[in-house]
Amino acid sequence: MATVEPGAPAGSPHSAIASIPIDVRLENVVKRFGDEVTAVDGVSVEIPHGSFFALLGPSGCGKTTTLRMIGGFEEPTEGSIYLGDTDVVGLPPYKRDVNTVFQSYALFPHMTIFDNVAFGLERRKIDKRDIKGRVLEILELVDLKGRENGKPKQLSGGQQQRVALARALVNTPRVLLLDEPLGALDLKLRKQMQLELKRIQAEVGITFVHVTHDQEEAMTMADTIAVMNRGKIEQLGSPTELYERPETAFVANFLGTSNLLDGTVESRGTVRLDDGTVVSVDTQGASGAISVGVRPEKVTIGGEHPNVLAGRVKESAYIGVATHVVVSTAVGDVSVFHQNTESGGLVPAPGDNVTVSWRADSGFVVNRGETPE
Ligand code: ATP
Repeated sequence: MATVEPGAPAGSPHSAIASIPIDVRLENVVKRFGDEVTAVDGVSVEIPHGSFFALLGPSGCGKTTTLRMIGGFEEPTEGSIYLGDTDVVGLPPYKRDVNTVFQSYALFPHMTIFDNVAFGLERRKIDKRDIKGRVLEILELVDLKGRENGKPKQLSGGQQQRVALARALVNTPRVLLLDEPLGALDLKLRKQMQLELKRIQAEVGITFVHVTHDQEEAMTMADTIAVMNRGKIEQLGSPTELYERPETAFVANFLGTSNLLDGTVESRGTVRLDDGTVVSVDTQGASGAISVGVRPEKVTIGGEHPNVLAGRVKESAYIGVATHVVVSTAVGDVSVFHQNTESGGLVPAPGDNVTVSWRADSGFVVNRGETPE
């Protein structure tokens, strides 16, 4: 079973987190819809208290179904789900110590912002004075101080989503579930809200489990990401681990883009590419037919790095911070993000014969396999 460390850099000793309690535990969770669809196919994961955890993957990979099972909106066909030490399978949503923020804010339009946020506390018959203090405190946290007497329709989409967030946080649930909460916002607001959400999570310290298909959003906010594909977790790790050391071809191309060059492991640390070129790379115990991956920004046109391929420039597109150069080599096309650090710098043009090179520690190996569509 995979266990993750909230906010911990790659390689931190596991002993250091032994005392962090687990808020969510999934054990071999399977969800089938009828005979045809297996939406979630044997997911096991532990999410420690205080994590900002993202379930990331393409449409249909099972991430929303996983979240809905934690929230109690679906029940697993097989497996167990624990919130803390409580087995919650079979419990309705309102008996689980979680709250959910959906893409649609579902605020009560006729009620003030204060009353929208206070609603859950009032239902729990909390003392009125305590409610007031708590609501004002949480509105301040989401940056809506002074707006408590307004109605939802007087607020922008981003502000309404912050009311929904305040309403979900005011009960201090063990876990907050976020189902594509920023999906309805325009790009600029979404980026602002990503940073806001990250700040709010750090301030309240509640475990957030966030579903998104947007890799940049997951990387901006989450300390741990589970990349899902076809109902399974392909890889779990920090954004840096997933980006720098993807373990499958799918992950290598779902988070950013990667050049994947087919070859065969020749010895520990060396791979013979299919055109005969031998390259150095950490082979991580792999053997046989694999692909060597390297990110476009880690490949240099020319350069003196040990791994070298010769080729001809096929395309060259200026994209501002970099020029995207595609070099056709005997082992396939290699994309290079050539940094435009000097204005007027020399950029290769289509038809030029060039070499490309990269450092041994810039590459990784993955099994030959499925890449995202
Ligand atoms: P999206 O981002 O599009 O919501 P997702 O990764 O969240 O995708 P799920 O919504 O979890 O994926 O769906 C996983 C699979 O289960 C899909 O094939 C979907 O069609 C199917 N599915 C989900 N809910 C149901 C349902 N109630 N009945 C039948 N099939 C369902």
